[in-house]
Amino acid sequence: MLLGAVMLTADICIVGGGLLGTATAFYAAKAGLKVALVEERELASGTSGVAFGGVSLAIYSYASARVPKSYVELSKASLSLYQRAQQEIGPPLDLDAPGSIDPFYNEEDSARGLERCRGLQACGVPCEFIDYKQIKQIEPAVAPIAIHAIYCPVDAHVTPMGVVWAFAKAARQMGAEILTNTRAISLISRGQRVVGVATSAGEIFASDVVCASGSGVPSLAAGVGIQVPLDLARGQMFVTERIPPLLRTYVHNIKQTPAGAIVFGTTREPGVKDTTVTSVEGTHKMLKWASELVPALANVKLLRSWAGLRLLPPDGYPIIGRPEGVEGLLLAVMHRGVTLAPAVGSILTDLITDGKTALDISPYRLERFASSAAGAEAQETFYGT
Ligand SMILES: Cc1cc2nc3c(=O)[nH]c(=O)nc-3n(C[C@H](O)[C@H](O)[C@H](O)COP(=O)(O)OP(=O)(O)OC[C@H]3O[C@@H](n4cnc5c(N)ncnc54)[C@H](O)[C@@H]3O)c2cc1C
Repeated sequence: MLLGAVMLTADICIVGGGLLGTATAFYAAKAGLKVALVEERELASGTSGVAFGGVSLAIYSYASARVPKSYVELSKASLSLYQRAQQEIGPPLDLDAPGSIDPFYNEEDSARGLERCRGLQACGVPCEFIDYKQIKQIEPAVAPIAIHAIYCPVDAHVTPMGVVWAFAKAARQMGAEILTNTRAISLISRGQRVVGVATSAGEIFASDVVCASGSGVPSLAAGVGIQVPLDLARGQMFVTERIPPLLRTYVHNIKQTPAGAIVFGTTREPGVKDTTVTSVEGTHKMLKWASELVPALANVKLLRSWAGLRLLPPDGYPIIGRPEGVEGLLLAVMHRGVTLAPAVGSILTDLITDGKTALDISPYRLERFASSAAGAEAQETFYGT
């Protein structure tokens, strides 16, 4: 159909067929909304197709000592929603919850880890700070370069692509229109209200538009005067051949899939925006880290390596909800989107159907970037009650 012809009308039009977009389509369709989703390529073509797959209450970033309580609550809500969705949808949603080990390699990191662990416990996360002897009992594959770790027995992992397909399939079964190879060219607005999306296949009119297009969010939102700050950093992953059971837990950032492959990855390369894999030297460093942490990996055959873009709002925390100054528009862009997708999809649906949500998302409003205090340090102070 030609651009300019009305293609369809919906209650909600979602731009982006990654984890955030398809999770939102699932929860919105479940709430009885008429859903349209447009994806410019195939589903899971963006960051969601390259991610590690950790769904974690205890692992944040290597450096973080303190994590906002609201952020922990989002993660907890998401894990519960994953568990429920797995019962409702089934495969290819392959949530596996073997628990996680977040290792620390020196005293300085251990001190930050201990502080984070205490804070997480205060937020009701079942986790403990353990020494190498205890690590060895829980995860015999890990070497003593890990001197301490946070152990969280409820942490889980998924295959992110499988989750995208699972949410999309379930949404379609509930009537959602999911249009792949359909590019959102611009948002259509009337005055201060977004009323739809002009796509490569025609116009879609909707009461609400959700921008969940990952690295494409800033350019789309800028078309209606909304500035979304977003940094990109490259992250690289590896997968091995299938091997007999080696890992009992998921070790930050090494996991064994239910089929037996070991998936691992490490980097967060700020400012690198291409998705080609790094140099031989860079690759060597990552393989060295993995085989020193889990020595049995040294004899396992590598199958493939790939890289993708981490989506990083400047303070590292998500941007969720309705931006000020424009009606009919919702934003969802973040790192840790594997962990948070179900919670965010459900929150956006609540905002559309009820105008409010039970979880506190006020720290994740876009407008926080209008203030110069919105740096990582400012965010790290609001731990606790
Ligand atoms: C190496 C790596 C490891 C990671 N590991 C984890 C992890 O273990 N746990 C965790 O919680 N998070 C992890 N993440 C982060 C997580 O993958 C992302 O936060 C999440 O995938 C973001 O999903 P999304 O739907 O917002 O974006 P995307 O998956 O990028 O989806 C956006 C989609 O929008 C489409 N699009 C863009 N522009 C348009 C347009 N104009 N019209 C139509 N469609 C458009 C794109 O093609 C894309 O498919 C990792 C990221 C990387 C890179």
